[in-house]
Amino acid sequence: MSRLSAPLLLTLATCLIAPAAMAQTPSSAAPGPQPERPSLVVTIVVDQLSSNLFNQYRDRFTGGLHALASTGLVYANGFQQHAMTETCPGHATILTGVNPASAGIPANDWIDRATGAEVYCLAAPQNTLAHGRITDNGPVGPDQLLATTLGDWLKAGSPTSRIFAVSGKDRGAINLAGHHGDGAFWMTDGFGFTTYVEPGQTAEAKLAPVAALNARINARLAASPPTWTYTRAECRALEGDWTIGTQTFHATLPPATGFKLDTSPVLDELTLEAATELLDTQSLGRRGVTDVLGVSLSATDRVGHAFGTQGPEMCEQMYRLDAALGVFMDRLSQLPGGVVVVLTADHGGSDFPERMHERGYDDAVRGDPALLGRINTALRDRFNLTVDPLSYGGSGLMVVGAGNVELADRRRDQIAAAAVALLRAAPNVAGAWTIEDVLASPLPPRNLSPQELTLLQRHRLGAVEGRSPDIVVAQWPNTTTVPGRVGGTLSTHGTPWDYDRGVPIVFWSPNIQGQERFFPIRTIDIAPTLANIVGVEAPTTVEGRCMDLGLFGAGDCPVVAPAASAVERRPAALQRTVSGIARRLGAR
Ligand SMILES: [Zn+2]
Repeated sequence: MSRLSAPLLLTLATCLIAPAAMAQTPSSAAPGPQPERPSLVVTIVVDQLSSNLFNQYRDRFTGGLHALASTGLVYANGFQQHAMTETCPGHATILTGVNPASAGIPANDWIDRATGAEVYCLAAPQNTLAHGRITDNGPVGPDQLLATTLGDWLKAGSPTSRIFAVSGKDRGAINLAGHHGDGAFWMTDGFGFTTYVEPGQTAEAKLAPVAALNARINARLAASPPTWTYTRAECRALEGDWTIGTQTFHATLPPATGFKLDTSPVLDELTLEAATELLDTQSLGRRGVTDVLGVSLSATDRVGHAFGTQGPEMCEQMYRLDAALGVFMDRLSQLPGGVVVVLTADHGGSDFPERMHERGYDDAVRGDPALLGRINTALRDRFNLTVDPLSYGGSGLMVVGAGNVELADRRRDQIAAAAVALLRAAPNVAGAWTIEDVLASPLPPRNLSPQELTLLQRHRLGAVEGRSPDIVVAQWPNTTTVPGRVGGTLSTHGTPWDYDRGVPIVFWSPNIQGQERFFPIRTIDIAPTLANIVGVEAPTTVEGRCMDLGLFGAGDCPVVAPAASAVERRPAALQRTVSGIARRLGAR
């Protein structure tokens, strides 16, 4: 306590009793009061940007991430609160305000029980892809997303509002653009930014907003093929050789396995160029209504999977992302009508276990690849089966018969129960449940802190009947679920642990004063909070909580009916924390 300065204590005391309006004091540089509503809402999702990674580099950022971290409202304890921390469910929470269970998106893929075929989370077989080939995840669209988004709510009352999203991945764009978006574009190899085409639409019309951009990018890439090398000595210092199974991974730049655009910082730079192009060609934020732009930046995820999170590659990725975001944020700052930006992530991630082990994480291991085989053998013996009854699917396990089709007879439930018992007894397994047991468990109280959810509750928040796998399994923390292949995937995410659930959540607008806020919030709280700022009503089905940020002319959040939890009952002033506390304490 003695380390707190007197002015800081005074500020703290003031803030704890401050009325809502005081929580947001405009800085002295503010030109005047903010307009009633922002003209543009920008949602920036950095794929796989864990809280750990954000905090690790936070005091070294100088660009856009520095601006967000130093002059934004920084929620240090942000969570994707569900267990299956993957890209599609994570993106599905951010602008819908609901958990993956209600968004209908339990994982990146699931198994069609009738055919045994894998179904992509945003598969839309009736659509085509604008670039005229079947690539990436095949025909996609928002149909399987069973919740509406901020853009959908806005557009219902403001039909001239424009809703766009852009990403390195289709699911990064489509989940943010929602059902009534004007465009959801993602980068595809050898073409540029593409989109989906619904029956009755034409590819040419759908691509119009990015056609000139694609021509420009392709000409530039052809004339001057990009590469990836060091800009920082501190990143070069992280070079090293690592033994992954029987292979050696050389952590270096350019990557020893070869340069790939979509596994490099260039992907995010192009995505931000596309976002800027949409600002310009669609006059976003300059038409007297509120527009919505989603920007999902995929390179951090691709770099994390391919090279881990603690090597020279991620180091360079962080600095180049920061720089590219700086240019983009400068552009946003100049919008005359005012902009509100939220930064978050679809999930976190961690490094590959071989390097973690060397850094003192003695428990960091790869999951036992023989585990499934052992359990299948035991089940075959016990149930006198001629085929293995368990197979991987939908980020869990499926109970299947011949042809990998869902086993439909009465033995299915018995086999599933026996499999769960065997899994629970296996080393490195923290929990296993049949999907029936997960779905039968009660949903946790709406405002329970994300840090207090049990493993089963985390799974419940992502469970979707008919889509979730038959059995969900949680391995112990620091167990990496991929075998690890140099040139392929070295590390991953997807666990129910906080290194995969913890994500930064930062709200920012020009000329506001930076604040650190420590109470845990969830990504499902983002959409109702933004809805309040732009003055649209969020549906009553929204599961997140609107937070009074004091931005623009937004009034108090709509009153939430009953069953308020301890979190909900805390006085509003207590929900706010003091500007700069962490910076001052953290300055050490
Ligand atoms: Zn992701």
